[in-house]
Amino acid sequence: SGDGADAPHLTIVGAGLAGALLAILLAQRGWSIDVYEKRGDLRELGYERGRSINLALAERGRHALRQADADDAVMAKTVMMRGRMVHFADGHLDLQRYGRDDTEVIWSVHRGELNEALLDIAEQAGARIHFHHRLDSVDFDARIAKFGDDRGDTVREIHFDTLVGADGAGSALRQAMAGVCELGERSEFLGHSYKELEIPPGPDGGFQIEPHALHIWPRGRYMCIALPNDEGTFTVTLFLPNHALPNHALPNHAAPDEGAPGFDTITTGAQARAFFDRDFPDASRLIPALEHDFDHNPTGVLGTLYLDRWHLDHRAVLIGDAAHAMVPFHGQGMNCAFEDCVALANHLLRTTDRGEAFAGFQSERLPNARAIQQMALENYLEMRDHVDDDDYILQRELGNRLAERHPQRFLPRYAMVTFTHLPYAVALARGETQHEMLVELTRDRTTLDGFDWDAADALVEARLPPLPEDY
Ligand code: FAD
Repeated sequence: SGDGADAPHLTIVGAGLAGALLAILLAQRGWSIDVYEKRGDLRELGYERGRSINLALAERGRHALRQADADDAVMAKTVMMRGRMVHFADGHLDLQRYGRDDTEVIWSVHRGELNEALLDIAEQAGARIHFHHRLDSVDFDARIAKFGDDRGDTVREIHFDTLVGADGAGSALRQAMAGVCELGERSEFLGHSYKELEIPPGPDGGFQIEPHALHIWPRGRYMCIALPNDEGTFTVTLFLPNHALPNHALPNHAAPDEGAPGFDTITTGAQARAFFDRDFPDASRLIPALEHDFDHNPTGVLGTLYLDRWHLDHRAVLIGDAAHAMVPFHGQGMNCAFEDCVALANHLLRTTDRGEAFAGFQSERLPNARAIQQMALENYLEMRDHVDDDDYILQRELGNRLAERHPQRFLPRYAMVTFTHLPYAVALARGETQHEMLVELTRDRTTLDGFDWDAADALVEARLPPLPEDY
């Protein structure tokens, strides 16, 4: 494939998850693709530790990978997660299944292994990947991009037809575009950050806790999660406010005497150990290197990036985190970025007018990116504060029952986002209608005993139109 003299050419900045997948999709369809990546080749260097080591892959991400014939290679490296294993403060555990059965699950995949697999397939499809090329600046009139090399100060100037920015949340291409047009950029930081830790394999080399689950330790203002890796480890992520709250400012959950901690009061590995021993004792026992990893792994910040415009006429366009970074609490940033790749490839294949393709891409994807950004923020509250809450559990139970009674109409929002390809904006709108119904129907109730199912059925039919056939 790939290199006929008249093949359309595209220059992609960033060989992360989105850049690699877009390269595959277009190289497989005969395009000539050059990808410039600031880091070295991780297949030779190994993956940098401490920055979101593993990711939850869901159906929409897999759907995109299938279009690129990359699903099998990726799935070989994943671990199935059937639901949330909630570790309550009193020490008991509860597996909350995500879906109806093992056809409705999510998959944990190591970011480095996933990226490597995609880079291999991209190269096999004919894409050229240039490592140690960091985009520094762009002259959009002359169509020249300047790249530096982190190992020295060589600069390369490359002529381009069109640039695609797949260079992540801190996108250099976005910054260059903002210098010549108004993107309407704003970032909202969450005020919470994260730190990654590790549960190693047990003495027999196997998993030390249930492997087929996403573990959550919800504790009100903060939480830990753990995702399995295929080599028997778990990556644990602590999400914690940047600033502690004193005792009197707290609602319910936290320990009585000490207030709610923050990254400003838990600053050393030893303090982190004491905090874990108090709030996450079962996890603490399984993390031998907690002190070391807390001291050495970076603290990651979390935020949402909003733009009103993703493209500069026909010359440049942004995808993935570069266009719409989001908080990670729905596990959809990569899945959304993969959907972007399929959408952009389709628009580019449909017309030779790139300005038109980019505008079509933006109008298809921007409302959906906004919707998942909002749902990701909402899911943080759900995970850290609601999964152990009685009202939430009752609403969830009713939602599941209504979904059984009305499979063509009622689908829990989590399921719409995670197990279908319904546009995110549709999931958000239907989810709001459903939530209002669940609140109404469970008001003043603690169980579903004596529940009026006929009235509920009528409400579902009145308020929720049938789902499209092929979601
Ligand atoms: P990136 O993966 O960030 O790739 C950008 C690439 O561009 C990198 O290779 C980088 O080196 C390169 N680059 C950067 N600057 C330059 C430059 N100037 N020149 C050249 N190259 C450059 N998503 C999920 O779907 N599921 C999850 O479970 C999940 N969990 C997450 C947990 C955490 C803690 C975080 C922070 C994120 C999580 N995400 C998750 C989101 C996911 O990581 C991102 O949405 C995804 O990585 C976006 O892919 P991307 O290709 O747009 O950007």
